[in-house]
Amino acid sequence: DAKIVQFGGSALPQEKPDKQIVGGKGLGLQIMSGIGVSVPPGFTLTTPVCQEFQDSGDLSDEMWAAVREAVKRIEKDTGKGYGNPENPLLFSCRSGAAVSMPGMMDTVLNIGLNKETVEGLAKATNNKRFAYDAYRRLLDMFGDVVLGISHEAFERRLEMLKMKKGVRDDTDFSADDLEELCEAYYEVYAENDKSFPEDPFEQLKACVKAVFSSWNADRAIKYREINGIASLLGTACNIQTMVFGNRGETSGTGVAFSRDPGTGENKMKGEYLINAQGEDVVAGIRTPEPIARMKEVLPDAYEQFMSNVDILEKHFKDMQDVEFTVEDGKLWMLQCRSGKRTGQAAFKIAADLVEEGLCTPEEALFKVEPDHVKQVLHPTFSSEALESKEYKDNVVAVGLAGGPGAAIGKLAFTTEDAEARQSEGVILVRENTSPEDVGGMWAANGIVTSRGGVTSHAAVVARGWGKPCVCGCEQLEIDEKSKTMTVKRTGETFTEGDTISVNGNTGEIVRVAIETSSPALDGEFGKVLGWADALSDKCKVMANADSGPDATKAAELGAQGVGLCRTEHMFFAPERLPVVRRWILRGEDLDKVQEFQRTDFREIMAAMDGKPVTIRLLDPPLHEFLPRVQQVDDAMAKELGYSSAAALISDIESMHEENPMLGLRGCRLAIVRPEVATMQAEAIINAAADLIEQNPDAKPFPRIMVPLVGSIPEFVTQAIIIKRTAERIKAERNIDVPYEIGTMIEVPRAALISDQLASVVDPEDGQPLCSFFSFGTNDLTQMTMGISRDDSGAFIPTYLENGILEEDPFKTIDAEGVGWLVRHSSVNGRAASPGLSLSVCGEHGGDPQSIEFFDKVGLDYVSCSPFRVPVARLATGQAAV
Ligand code: ADP
Ligand code: MG
Ligand code: MG
Repeated sequence: DAKIVQFGGSALPQEKPDKQIVGGKGLGLQIMSGIGVSVPPGFTLTTPVCQEFQDSGDLSDEMWAAVREAVKRIEKDTGKGYGNPENPLLFSCRSGAAVSMPGMMDTVLNIGLNKETVEGLAKATNNKRFAYDAYRRLLDMFGDVVLGISHEAFERRLEMLKMKKGVRDDTDFSADDLEELCEAYYEVYAENDKSFPEDPFEQLKACVKAVFSSWNADRAIKYREINGIASLLGTACNIQTMVFGNRGETSGTGVAFSRDPGTGENKMKGEYLINAQGEDVVAGIRTPEPIARMKEVLPDAYEQFMSNVDILEKHFKDMQDVEFTVEDGKLWMLQCRSGKRTGQAAFKIAADLVEEGLCTPEEALFKVEPDHVKQVLHPTFSSEALESKEYKDNVVAVGLAGGPGAAIGKLAFTTEDAEARQSEGVILVRENTSPEDVGGMWAANGIVTSRGGVTSHAAVVARGWGKPCVCGCEQLEIDEKSKTMTVKRTGETFTEGDTISVNGNTGEIVRVAIETSSPALDGEFGKVLGWADALSDKCKVMANADSGPDATKAAELGAQGVGLCRTEHMFFAPERLPVVRRWILRGEDLDKVQEFQRTDFREIMAAMDGKPVTIRLLDPPLHEFLPRVQQVDDAMAKELGYSSAAALISDIESMHEENPMLGLRGCRLAIVRPEVATMQAEAIINAAADLIEQNPDAKPFPRIMVPLVGSIPEFVTQAIIIKRTAERIKAERNIDVPYEIGTMIEVPRAALISDQLASVVDPEDGQPLCSFFSFGTNDLTQMTMGISRDDSGAFIPTYLENGILEEDPFKTIDAEGVGWLVRHSSVNGRAASPGLSLSVCGEHGGDPQSIEFFDKVGLDYVSCSPFRVPVARLATGQAAV
């Protein structure tokens, strides 16, 4: 039955071992024993047994009888007897859930030793020292792990004995010393009112129970909570014949990666310790030697090991992380699993595995994770730098990891300063940021804020631009007026121009310059993502890009067009802002605003050459561009064409809205101020015509998108203005510019009437007016769920904690609700207009889990910020497999 699964020795391997049932470690042992790699024989008590134990609080008699049966098989295989004083068999007891889980019980080795069997082991191996070494380890581990006696209590006895005997290392103890140590350890038990069970089966049972109980230990529950692990049955428990790396110079133990986990190079990387038992390698008691040393001392075992690792790589089609022990020259494998690796290594390994014929491109895509992609995109501190004293000793504060990557720069406290000193390399530090700071953020190498979470303005913008960002660093006091940044705890103060380093991966702020290493978007990166593109021919990846440089970056990172250009983002540039304000407040200078736009559009379309560029008409509430009344002075009033500050303030105040996100914005703006749509359509078509005029081979392809549509007349009036304007310009300049008009679907009502939206036609020529839907899932989520994105920080964390929400809906699409609207509009839109292009723009377009959903719905593309493009390419590729 599935309660106990045997492995190694005479065990028949399972056909299809199930990781959920046998756990990760059990699976590795099963598979190794099935493909002819020698593992010490043993058996796995499966996760259903753990569940039974949780329910009843005990192991049933039948269960225990089955364990005794399983032990008999191993006794036969090994010719030893469990509890037999002549030739004792020993076990290890190892926990192992389906996902690796710190917080579970530690492994206990050498189970089965007692005052009698230890003598038997000494005789059988003719090595008393070894036997007592094993025994003292059991006494320590069992006391610590199973009975909760502190390990330090045992350590103290060990140190005392070392002093008494005048020895430095454990290895210097004689057999008699170790026997004496065991006696001292028995005293530790007595001091703690515990007793060591002499009966080997009692020992084993206590270990199994401890493993199963540890599943519900606080630290294990906490770990599952933090990592969102909900669906596991429990942990498995592996009982395995002990093999001994501590039997002398021809024994040892080690761990290895089949390839370099740092660089991905196809070269074994590992450590080996002669005459040692398992935990010695990790515990750092002695310094292990590189694995190559094993080749010299134990050539046969080394060769066997290399061949095993090769077999395992071929079987699992992936880089392996293995643990092994050599007993008297004979090699035993104890564990294998896919190895953790850096981003750089992930790409190299994926590409190499295909090259070497070990796996297909489809399979290789799954060797790369979104985090790997992110790591490769940004400059980072090298692992040596992170380990260095210089780094560790100079961390002055830790905030939240707001945007990945690393940066060095001189402190700038205002947007103006950051822009003025951009060439020196600056870090912009602010209490928090607002849209007015985007110029400074763009100019800065990195951004630090003392307030706001990972979805705050600073963090969202930083991630979009690929800028390292530490946000919400409350340990810092940031004062814009005095231009100082103070570490609250120590009072250490930094001023303008001081150099710091920022680690956006960890949230650390360092008081000195730490060297960064640049991303290598070299061969493997492009190769693997190229496979993803080829596989995902259905769902493409486009980028949100607001400027020429943005679009260039996006194209470099593989975007197949611009899915969202927020035309107004560039209004904040210092030379533009006063002009924009004059237009908003006084209706003047519209021609100048148009000129900025035309320049931007030209640059963006040139960067995307031949690929579609989707431009959203003006969307945000206009007062976002106005100064705060506190900032107004006479000079500003004059610049904006007012006779007095009071007059300007009065105009600003008249534009105040109680609920701007549901106020005068989106297409409502252009309906109230019709000059907007005309001006923007002119700028777009003129920009495209300019490019064609400069170069007849240029292929600009603008797509004009109307935001915040909720009704048919809203869309139709806008679409007609755009179309008439475009046709007029084309005729005037006698240049043919291909273009499309479409709508965003972001107001729930638009989703509900999507069939009508898709089928509206131009009353003059009967041609369809709407070529595409693009789901603005940020607003759609906000309005469907009735949750303000900017205020959700006050309750979403609590919702997540209490399981009221499973995911932040602004990060991962709410498939049931908001997703239903997306699906509904897609189906109805396509039914009404089969050629309708469907897409999503907004944060969800870069989220792998959401992309899987969008791919299922059948969207033509997702659009996300340039630095998310590679992640999205990977995700669309994976979704297509
Ligand atoms: P972890 O999950 O912490 O890696 P393991 O169960 O792999 O714990 O055990 C830790 C180490 O103990 C192993 O790497 C190995 O060196 C040693 N070990 C475990 N079982 C045995 C065994 N049957 N024989 C020899 N050494 C063992
Ligand atoms: Mg292990
Ligand atoms: Mg919107």
